[in-house]
Amino acid sequence: MANPKIKSSAQTVKKSNATAGRKPMAKSLYSRVDLEEIFRRFSIQRPEPKGELEHVNPFTLVVAVALSAQATDAGVNKATRALFAVADTPQKMLDLGEERIREYIKTIGLYRNKAKNVMALSEKLITDFGGEVPRTREELITLPGVGRKTANVVLSMAFGQATMAVDTHIFRIANRLLLAPGKTPDEVEHRLMQIIPDQYLYHAHHWLILHGRYCCKARKPECERCVIADLCRSPEKTWDIPAPLVELPAQIIGAEAAG
Ligand code: SF4
Repeated sequence: MANPKIKSSAQTVKKSNATAGRKPMAKSLYSRVDLEEIFRRFSIQRPEPKGELEHVNPFTLVVAVALSAQATDAGVNKATRALFAVADTPQKMLDLGEERIREYIKTIGLYRNKAKNVMALSEKLITDFGGEVPRTREELITLPGVGRKTANVVLSMAFGQATMAVDTHIFRIANRLLLAPGKTPDEVEHRLMQIIPDQYLYHAHHWLILHGRYCCKARKPECERCVIADLCRSPEKTWDIPAPLVELPAQIIGAEAAG
């Protein structure tokens, strides 16, 4: 009689074929099919999603993201346009000096501290990294004013790596939709990285931010405008007919961002 504890090789092969190429699934209310469909719809709405922080190279992106803590992208852009026109490298930033940097960014919250950090991170880039922005998270977070979220944004936007920088919008959506609930940004980041289908991972960060900024808003989600209203499992949802699935005009995204 065959030992029931020993799986036949046919069973083992069948199981490994079924899971081949898939990541282990974190616990989620959403099935794989639902997750595929949610991100497929986001990809049709915004085929080439972009971050809204203006920058001209990896260095100015690091500075812009570091300045954006507790500030809006539109507010940061207003200040950095003039700053980056005169200082787009670590050396030029050092030459400008802390006092003049402060003048450029004084409309941004916590600007005194941020000006100090911009000076310190420029100095460190020159002494430790030859004036270049490093390409690993471990190195990026050694820069003053650069935490895990900033590092993830830089890795994604400057170097094309699939990362999940959990900002206020992503944290809210992951919890509100019960998509990847977590008490901390790190927890949410880890869960999202596990459940988002691989082919959508690179753009997922921007799709979630833009969905949160323009549709699933903090105070009151606009469910009647939502393309995933039928799939959403949020207890806060007020409507369950999905909005028409069309590509959004870029100018709408830009116009709302400036507001
Ligand atoms: S249906 Fe409403 S709560 Fe759900 S994702 Fe859309 S806007 Fe957010």
